[in-house]
Amino acid sequence: MLKNVFGYETFRRGQEEVIDALLGGRDALVVMPTGAGKSLCYQIPALLMDGISIIISPLISLMKDQVRSLRENEAAAAFINSSLSYDEYLQTMRRVRAGEYKLIYIAPERLSGEGATWLDGLKVSLVVIDEAHCVSQWGHDFRTSYMQIAPFIRSLPLHPVATAFTATATERVKTDIVRALGLRNPFHITTGFDRPNLYFAVEKPENKMRSLKKHLRRLKNKSGIVYCLTRRYVEDIYAELAADGFAAARYHAGLSPEERRENQDDFIYDRKTIMVATNAFGMGIDKSNVSFVIHYNMPKNIESYYQEAGRAGRDGSGAECILFYSYADVKTSEFLIEKSAEESGSAELKDYNLELLKYMTFYASGTDCLRERLLAYFGEKPPNYCGACSNCMTRFESVDITVDAQKIISCVYRLKQRNRRFGKTMVIQILRGSRNSKIVSEKLDSLTVWGIMKDSSEKAIRGVIDFLVLNGYLATSGGDYPSLVETDKSGEIIFGKKPLEMMMPCEDAPPASTAAPPPADTTLFVTLKALRAELAAAARVPAYIIFSDAALYAMCRRLPVTRESFLEIPGVGAVKAEKYGDAFTGAIRIYKNRITV
Ligand code: ADP
Ligand code: ZN
Repeated sequence: MLKNVFGYETFRRGQEEVIDALLGGRDALVVMPTGAGKSLCYQIPALLMDGISIIISPLISLMKDQVRSLRENEAAAAFINSSLSYDEYLQTMRRVRAGEYKLIYIAPERLSGEGATWLDGLKVSLVVIDEAHCVSQWGHDFRTSYMQIAPFIRSLPLHPVATAFTATATERVKTDIVRALGLRNPFHITTGFDRPNLYFAVEKPENKMRSLKKHLRRLKNKSGIVYCLTRRYVEDIYAELAADGFAAARYHAGLSPEERRENQDDFIYDRKTIMVATNAFGMGIDKSNVSFVIHYNMPKNIESYYQEAGRAGRDGSGAECILFYSYADVKTSEFLIEKSAEESGSAELKDYNLELLKYMTFYASGTDCLRERLLAYFGEKPPNYCGACSNCMTRFESVDITVDAQKIISCVYRLKQRNRRFGKTMVIQILRGSRNSKIVSEKLDSLTVWGIMKDSSEKAIRGVIDFLVLNGYLATSGGDYPSLVETDKSGEIIFGKKPLEMMMPCEDAPPASTAAPPPADTTLFVTLKALRAELAAAARVPAYIIFSDAALYAMCRRLPVTRESFLEIPGVGAVKAEKYGDAFTGAIRIYKNRITV
């Protein structure tokens, strides 16, 4: 079935074990990173077991995508969710009752009310809960509709095998999933979280927009997502990119459902290559040829970051995950956490979320191997050098910043003596000896600290200030325009009790190169991509549903011209070989002839 229906020769890590457990009648909890191939773990048992399988999934787009893929391989699947018209719903239900489907995808909201009556007389062998972390308060995406799942399972006459899937779960979330869903002695597997084909980078751009455009120009013709923290950011960045001629689309919860659907389709059908979005976009997007994910703002925690960044490179081709870091984003996240704590009234949840934010901040501001940081968060013990992240590619040296720190903190004290408080930018300008109108009118140029860091760049001073704030030697206070204030620890620095060292990139360090770029676009790749686009348009499905980029790359490497050799390409099963074999081998043959002539 693996080869015949899905076109793959070998299982990926963990897939076979899960399939065995389910076929053996055992419940399961499966934690595998995005792109690991979770769907196959339940689709194969669903097709092999007698009776039907119910797949509960929170996102309409995901269901559509999966059903489209299954149908492309001639597997009997359907979905039930709010995107169906009433007539379509009735028709689908008729066919469900007639036993025409093996797999039924359904939204959790649809489980309520009627209980399982709509399944009367049908044998449900398997219930799959996708994105199972949504059942836990401690997950990053709790949904009340998920609380209906356990009662639904209990209401079924024959207890089915239940299996919960998620890409991210801490120990706490895992325990919660098993309890909340009532899994019975589940087979449990957590495969490694590493995604070797992803390159991780953190950048601290002086001008985020300029850096973003530079990356987008470099990544021309590739598909990617730009994640922002708020709708406002999405609107601004989208407008700026569109005005500059980039093929961008936008997505956030404030847009109408129609527009969201349209923009999402533009992206998955490759009409637009760049998606600017809040975290509302992505869960359930199976687009396998996403080559980069750029975070314009730092997310609130590592789980969200890894899940969002992990939408790159699903098909195993090289892809990049770049995070833009600025301390302002930490403040914004703190603010959002405080606000939602006020609404929920849970101080415990607030502390927990602030703790997660701290870990995320250390990821973004530290100098350790980024992959190590990410994997350690999920409880793995990876080596401290991966060679494919921006920190591993940069040489850092330890720099003594005691004197600079003393100057900066002195400045904050001097301002305090004058009953004045200022934000970072003003403090930097005073230290660098600016004579802007405010400084002149308030006679701040008479301060002893005025101009004592004339020879340092604004960026360098800002770096030290951020370091001091992050490590508690200074703090920021106040709402929209926070001021720098001293802390209990400030004195230690002023009185020279403690030398301070900070890791900084070496001056002579080569610019962090971008590791593992995907294979270059060869002429054949371009030809096959065009052919795929044509077939996809005719079948009215996104291109990656026909074949993934990884499959096209494999064709370029192996140049199959017969049906047999075409079947050996990963992702080519019997159905697809029959449907598309001639077209692709034909194109490859023409290419081969041309280069041998
Ligand atoms: P997940 O749900 O875990 O994020 P998917 O189920 O969407 O991941 O699978 C990601 C990609 O990997 C898909 O393109 C899928 O076809 C492919 N894939 C799954 N299993 C295998 C396998 N055994 N060999 C090769 N590719 C696979
Ligand atoms: Zn690394």
